[in-house]
Amino acid sequence: MQSHFPLIIIGGGPIGMACAIEAKKNNIGHLILEKGCLVNSLYHYPVNMTFFSTSERLEIGNIPFVSNNVKPTRNEALEYYRRVAQSFELNIHLFEEVTGIERAEHAENGRELGESSKPRFAVQTSKTTYTCNHIIIATGFYDFPFLLNIPGEDLPKLTHYYSDPHFYAFQDVVVVGAMNSAVDAALETFRKGARVTMVIKGGEIGSRVKYWVKPDIENRIKEGSIKAYFHSTLREIREREVDINTPEGLVTLKNDRVIAATGYQPNLKFLEDIGIKLSKDTVRSPLINEATHETNVPGIYLAGVICGGMNTHRLFIENSREHAVKIVGSIVEDGLKWFKRR
Ligand code: FAD
Repeated sequence: MQSHFPLIIIGGGPIGMACAIEAKKNNIGHLILEKGCLVNSLYHYPVNMTFFSTSERLEIGNIPFVSNNVKPTRNEALEYYRRVAQSFELNIHLFEEVTGIERAEHAENGRELGESSKPRFAVQTSKTTYTCNHIIIATGFYDFPFLLNIPGEDLPKLTHYYSDPHFYAFQDVVVVGAMNSAVDAALETFRKGARVTMVIKGGEIGSRVKYWVKPDIENRIKEGSIKAYFHSTLREIREREVDINTPEGLVTLKNDRVIAATGYQPNLKFLEDIGIKLSKDTVRSPLINEATHETNVPGIYLAGVICGGMNTHRLFIENSREHAVKIVGSIVEDGLKWFKRR
């Protein structure tokens, strides 16, 4: 089996795929390493989810994305990206997690060796080790939920990854959060007959909630068919009950299921372990050259939502597709420089 690649891309999401397509167009041999299934994050989104972007804004490789409505569904997106991967014959190893990256000793002094025959990196995975000259990290932000850090969070009745409303039919459900995921979960489970209570830290439904969904949730709360505790937090989860801190004091509710839609954070430790520097402020954004997306580790680039650090709302598919062109352009230049030096 081939174990050396000019370019290894970590993450088989939409942006990792866009980078691979760009590499193919420039005749750079590539391997995508994906720890789950193809577009793993999208696969784990709620089954009935509709994107806030219109389908043409989710396109990669200039392949048209035709959807039944203006805003595509998760299922349409899964099928679109699968067909794109197939038609470009992308080289993807699925269910193979990257666990570490080591710089080869001879490359310690930066880019001196450029695209030399000696590999610059060793990439360890859950299955084997590869070598390569360039790496693009496109690992997204969906692998680590923000935890509530309260007693009972480890009970199996709690999920941070809400999927299918049918599962919640006729049960007492608490939804934590007030953004898109929380609102979708509350409305969908309510319409399957769940008795839904929302626990919301702030004083209102999030301002970024999809404009066609926001009035729906606000009206359900107003009419009382979905109960909402504002300025409130979940305090403890037990097998059959939950405790909620509210401005009026502690409230205990009968409860079967908890959906914690508290958001997700990127695996920044993975970057730090490789030696990539992060900003010192709370955003902890990785330091990259904005023109090329190369990090302080020569030969390692970042693409997609991971570039935003803890600010996971700045970059999405529609505004990070362009990273692929910048990065691959820089890799091509790097290779040309080496050929000139020879
Ligand atoms: P991801 O799609 O997250 O891909 C990263 C991949 O890396 C994953 O498949 C993951 O399994 C893999 N990975 C991680 N670590 C490793 C490792 N160590 N080894 C190997 N593989 C690894 N964006 C829009 O533009 N429009 C929308 O309408 C929209 N709607 C959204 C709705 C929801 C509910 C959510 C949660 C997000 C939405 N987004 C939307 C955001 C969008 O999905 C992300 O910005 C997008 O997935 C980013 O693409 P990416 O390729 O950078 O990361």
